Amino acid sequence: MAEIVEAFKNIVGEANVLTKEMDTAYYRSGFRCGFGGAKAVVFPSTLVEQWKVLQVAVDAGCAIIMQAAKTGLTGGSSPSGFDYDRDVVIINVSRLRGLHLLREGAQALAFPGTTLFELTQELKKIDRVPHSVLGSTTIGATVIGGVANNAGGALCKRGSSYTEFALYARVNEQGMLELIDHLGIQNLGETPEEILTRLEAGEFTDADLIDDGRVASDNDYVNRIRTLDADVPNRYNADPKRLYEASGSAGKVACFAVRVDTFQAPKKKQVFILGTNDPDHFVTMRRDILATFEHLPEMVEYMNRATFTAAEKYAKDVALAIKYLGTERLPKAYALKAKAEYLLNKIPLLPK
Ligand SMILES: Cc1cc2nc3c(=O)[nH]c(=O)nc-3n(C[C@H](O)[C@H](O)[C@H](O)COP(=O)(O)OP(=O)(O)OC[C@H]3O[C@@H](n4cnc5c(N)ncnc54)[C@H](O)[C@@H]3O)c2cc1C
Repeated sequence: MAEIVEAFKNIVGEANVLTKEMDTAYYRSGFRCGFGGAKAVVFPSTLVEQWKVLQVAVDAGCAIIMQAAKTGLTGGSSPSGFDYDRDVVIINVSRLRGLHLLREGAQALAFPGTTLFELTQELKKIDRVPHSVLGSTTIGATVIGGVANNAGGALCKRGSSYTEFALYARVNEQGMLELIDHLGIQNLGETPEEILTRLEAGEFTDADLIDDGRVASDNDYVNRIRTLDADVPNRYNADPKRLYEASGSAGKVACFAVRVDTFQAPKKKQVFILGTNDPDHFVTMRRDILATFEHLPEMVEYMNRATFTAAEKYAKDVALAIKYLGTERLPKAYALKAKAEYLLNKIPLLPK
C-alpha cells in the first residue's frame, strides 16, 4: 500500500492524501450510517488528477469509494466495516468545483464538487431554479452526488435528480478503466487527458452542445405521479427506471461532469402549511390534487409530528452553524467536529 500512497501523493500532492486514522475518521463515517476502514482518502484538485488517481487505484485492485459532500443517507458515501477483501481508497471530489451555465442558463454543466447551493445562487441571478432542491442543499450536497443517488422527489414538476448527459469512468469487463464521454459536448479531444483538460478550462461553446433526444432531467415525473392506482411508489431508491449510466449509479462509476436542466423560477409563490390528526385527510387531498389540478404544486413535503417535536429540542447547533458559518464552511466544520470527537473518544473517563 505504501507504493500506492506514494503514487497518489505524486499526483495530487502530499497534503491532499490522508492516511492517519484520526485524519481519515470523518471521511470513513456516513452521515446516518456506515463506518469502516480505508487505507487512504485522496483529494484530487483537477479532473485529470481524478482520472490519474482512479487509474492508480484500479491498477492496484483497490475498492474505490467515490465521495462528495457525504450527506448521503443510504450508506454509499463511506466504507462500511473493516473486512473488505481489498484495500479501500476513498476519492473525495469536493475540491473539484466548476459550474458553467449553458444556453443562457437553460442547462448547467456541473463538476464533481459543484454544490446545489452554488448552482441555486448562480441561477437566482437569471431568475431560474435548479433541477433539484434538497434538505441537504443548505449543508453542501453536490449536483453529482444527487444524480448518483437520484436524490429528490418532492418537486412535483422537476422530479428526482436524473440526466442522460454524463462524462464518467468505469471499469470494463476486462478490468480496465475507461472514460465514457456521453456528456454531449463535441470537439473536446480524443484522449481522457485532452477531454478533461479542455472541459475544465471551459474550452467549448454552446455550438458544441449535442442534442440527440436524451434528457437532462426526469421530465416524465410530472405525468407519472398522476397515476393514482400505481402499485409502486412514485419515487424509491434504486428505481430501475431512473438508473442510466451515472444517474442512480451510487458510486459504481466515477463521474466527472453532468449536464442538468434548469427551470424558470415561478413568478409568484404561496406556501400552505396544513395539519391534521387524521392521515386519511391527506390521502384524499393528494388524490384530488393529482387527479383534478391542471397545474400541480411546485413541491409537496410531508412532516410528521415527531419531526416538529425533535426540532424543538435538537439540532439548534446545525441551524446556528448554517446561519452564522454559512453553507460553504459547513463540511470543514463537520470534519473538525469529527476530529475532536475522535480525540475525545480516546479519553477513557469521558462519556461516549
Ligand atoms: C440533512 C439532510 C437532508 C437531506 N435531504 C434530502 C432530500 O430532501 N432529498 C433526498 O433525496 N435526499 C436528501 N438527503 C440525502 C443526501 O443529501 C442526498 O442523497 C445527496 O444528493 C447526496 O449528495 P452528496 O454530495 O452529499 O453525495 P455523497 O453522499 O458524497 O455521495 C452520494 C452517492 O454518490 C456517489 N458519488 C458522489 N460523487 C460521485 C462522483 N463524482 N462519481 C460517482 N459517484 C459519486 C457516492 O459514492 C455515493 O454513493 C439529505 C441528507 C441530509 C443529511
